[in-house]
Amino acid sequence: MIKPIPTTYRGTTFASTLEADWACTFDLLGWEWEHEPHGILVEDNTRYRPDFYLPTQRVWAEVKGPHNQRIDKPSKLQAALSRDSFDWNADLVVILRPSRSGKGEGERSWWENAINGQDIVIVLCPECGHHGFMDLAGTWSCRRHMREQPEPNKFWTDPNGDLFRPGELPFQRAPRPRRGPQRLGDFFNDFDPKGRQ
Ligand SMILES: [Zn+2]
Repeated sequence: MIKPIPTTYRGTTFASTLEADWACTFDLLGWEWEHEPHGILVEDNTRYRPDFYLPTQRVWAEVKGPHNQRIDKPSKLQAALSRDSFDWNADLVVILRPSRSGKGEGERSWWENAINGQDIVIVLCPECGHHGFMDLAGTWSCRRHMREQPEPNKFWTDPNGDLFRPGELPFQRAPRPRRGPQRLGDFFNDFDPKGRQ
């Protein structure tokens, strides 16, 4: 397993480059995000602190590498919040995966549902014009409207045009620190031709 490299993006230091990349991808999608805002009590009084909260969508997101270690934590959180996909007022939990290359069009975003029975997609809302996560197995509604409207807006009769599954949206990597020129500079600073004569 590759050791995670702490990466700073927009003033926040993330535990791994993958987390920073997802923050950058949130920005690409125009999503507000909070990094590890607080822990939540799940089973057996254990506290779990997901990597991200997306406040406008009320979505918790856990970034996972290709491995499945501690994959049970997001599942437990979703179960603690709600097991019912039609409970549109409950927070949603999404697992975020490393990017994969798409069909000849560069890197693509990949995500998964936290519990069996969910079908997490990203939809483009025709009312507010924003992309957001949605559980296709539950209420077809824009999660951004929830805080403003007493009832969910059910609008998709044929969502195929504005519905994105994993691998169908771009993935934006956070800028990496440029180490090459810096090392070259160190080399010339250390190199003293006169000292060698
Ligand atoms: Zn909307």
